[in-house]
Order: sequence, then structure tokens, then C-alpha cells
Amino acid sequence: MREVKDLVRKNILKFKPYKAGKPIKEVQRELGLKRIIKLASNENPLGPSLLALRAIKKSLSNINRYPDGNCFYLKRKLAERLNIQPSNIIFGNGSNEIIELIIKTFLNEGEEVIMSKPDFLIFRLATLQENGLPIEVDLKDFCCNLGAIKEAITPKTKIIFIANPNNPIGSYVREEEIRGFIEEVPDNILIVLDEAYYEFAKDEKGYPDSLKFLDKKNVIILRTFSKAYGLAGLRLGYGLANEEVIDYLNNSRQPFNVNYLAQIAGEAALDDDRFLQKTLRIIEEGKRYLYKELDRLGLSYIKSATNFILIDIKGNSKKLFDKMLAEGVIVREMSTYGLDSWIRVTIGTRNENERFIETFERFMEGGVIDNCIKTRCN
Ligand SMILES: *Cc1c(COP(=O)(O)O)cnc(C)c1O
Repeated sequence: MREVKDLVRKNILKFKPYKAGKPIKEVQRELGLKRIIKLASNENPLGPSLLALRAIKKSLSNINRYPDGNCFYLKRKLAERLNIQPSNIIFGNGSNEIIELIIKTFLNEGEEVIMSKPDFLIFRLATLQENGLPIEVDLKDFCCNLGAIKEAITPKTKIIFIANPNNPIGSYVREEEIRGFIEEVPDNILIVLDEAYYEFAKDEKGYPDSLKFLDKKNVIILRTFSKAYGLAGLRLGYGLANEEVIDYLNNSRQPFNVNYLAQIAGEAALDDDRFLQKTLRIIEEGKRYLYKELDRLGLSYIKSATNFILIDIKGNSKKLFDKMLAEGVIVREMSTYGLDSWIRVTIGTRNENERFIETFERFMEGGVIDNCIKTRCN
């Protein structure tokens, strides 16, 4: 046989798989540690909503049946909440799947997809998987540069992805800027606003009420149950768009793309406003605590509209990651995003945040981070 490499589609050779936050069990297995905290994937530190848990437990005996491929009840409930039509909604196996579906449905080979650099890495990966050309536009002052994105448009541009707020930065674009942008971008280009952190960001000054833009046929909004709703493990996200766009996206998906338990849990989670409010409160308190401690330690960080904070450790992010990991604290090193001296930390419970700061400070005082600076500059 020839080498497998020769059999693979050429575009698949162009990239490495997505590197996710390290799972707790993996760290337990590899390092033999017991007390591990994970602050690496922006998950909800409170666990899932109890209403969601209860609903799933009650439904477990039905898993011999295929799920409703149309997510009828979940769609109806979400449509009511958002005051839109069910026909404007598509659910996915995480919003990750919707990102893929958008590209699969609309992108012809060789067409261009514009995104910020850095931004959610899946935009680039999913584009390459489908033989598209990712066009990366640098941020300006750690914010999405809408002007430069407009300038990057060519006749081959088909899709523009904007995570708002940006992941891993945590900054966001305001409603008036987005409105002007949507008006100026030719309407044969799809504009995807990935609002994975919507619930955390919605009360920030000027954060867009993007549902207003749904009358534009080329606008798609993405949201998820993975972050504020605490259901990352079940994989549930959704896209909102014009009915015709949704129809074509439905053409590209598997018939049963959203599993049964995810649908049940999603419905219950939408009813659990107390859990959501508690989550938002804990994250807000945690954010204030971490800002205060980072100020005390003299570190720079980016003010975040999300449940994570990007911190400039002025040293080698990979090395710090390994050191923290050995102590059972999982954070995200940012070298894969081109931010070699930064780490991204998910805001956890009070205890987790304190343990993060305590561990971090020990390494700072022990000179581990300073040493990193030296090796980096040499
Ligand atoms: C976490 C995240 C997602 C969510 O993905 P799911 O597939 O819904 O878990 C999407 N976009 C961004 C920017 C994210 O940070």
C-alpha cells in the first residue's frame, strides 16, 4: 500500500487537530494527582442546572428511541423566550457543529473566510477542513478590527466569522459598530456572530442586541448551552437566522444531530433562571476577585465580558502551564493562538480562584516566571 498520507485529501494535511483544554481525568491518569481544578475550557464551575439534571434522570429510560430530529419542543421553548419563530432556529451538536454546517452549506472550494487573529480556532480549522481559504485579520488594541475586516473582503469572500465577545481575548464589539458593519458588507457575504458568551456579556455597555439584525438574510447568530448553562458535556448549541438560511443548513446536517438527553436538558435549563442568575453572580464576583488579585500582583490582563480572563504573565506560557498542571491547576496556555506570554483562565468558584492565585503567586515568587522571561528573550 502507498503511504496513508498520499491517500488523504490535501487540505486535511494543512492543519493539526484542535487542542482542547486538558480533561481532569487525563491529568489524574498522567500525573497521579487527586485534587485537580480545571480552569481551561470556560465551563460552568457550578455544574449543571439541577432542573436539567432532574429532567434527564426522569428521561433516561427512553434512550432506546431516536431523538426528535427537529428538536420540536426545545425549539418552541427557545423561540418563545427569544420572541422569534421556531423556523429561525437550528440546533446543533454544540455550536461547533453549526460553524461546520455553515461552511459546508455555503462555502465553495477556494472561497475565502475572514476571521480575526486571534479568535476562536475552530473558524480556521473548519474552513480548512472544507477546502476554504482562511483570511486572518489582526486585532487592533485587542479588539476586533471591523475596518480591516472590511478591507480584507475580495470577490472570493463568502463568510465572515466574528466571535463576540472574542475568545480568547474577552473583548467585544458594540452594537453601533456592528450595525454599521452589517450595512456596509455586501449582502452576498454571510456574517456570523458567534455569541457563545452572550449570557455573560449581554449587560455590558453597548453589547449588541443582535436579534435586531435577523431581518438581514446574511446574518447568522450562534449561541450555546455549553458555557453559562453548564451543559458542555451534552453538546448543545444553536444558530439563529433567516428561515431560508436555516432550511439550507438543515440540508447539511445529520438527521439526528442533537441527542435526546441534550434536548431534554436544554429545555429544563431554559426554565432554570435561578441557576443562570446564580452563575452570572458567581462569575461576576470571581471576576472582581481575580482582577483585584492580578492588580496586586502587578500583572496585565484584558478586561473581559466573558467567564474567562486573558493574563499576560510576561513569561513563557507553556512552561507556566506545565508547572501549574503539576500542581493540579489546569489553565490554558496561549501559544497555539500566537500569544506566547499569555494564559487564559476560566473564572471558577471562589475556592478555585483562590487556589489558582495561590499557586500562581508561588511560581511568581519562586522566580519561575522570571526565568521564563530570560529564556524567552535570549
Ligand atoms: C466555547 C465556544 C463555542 C462553543 O462551542 P460548543 O460547541 O457549543 O460547546 C463556540 N464559540 C466560541 C467562541 C466559544 O468560545
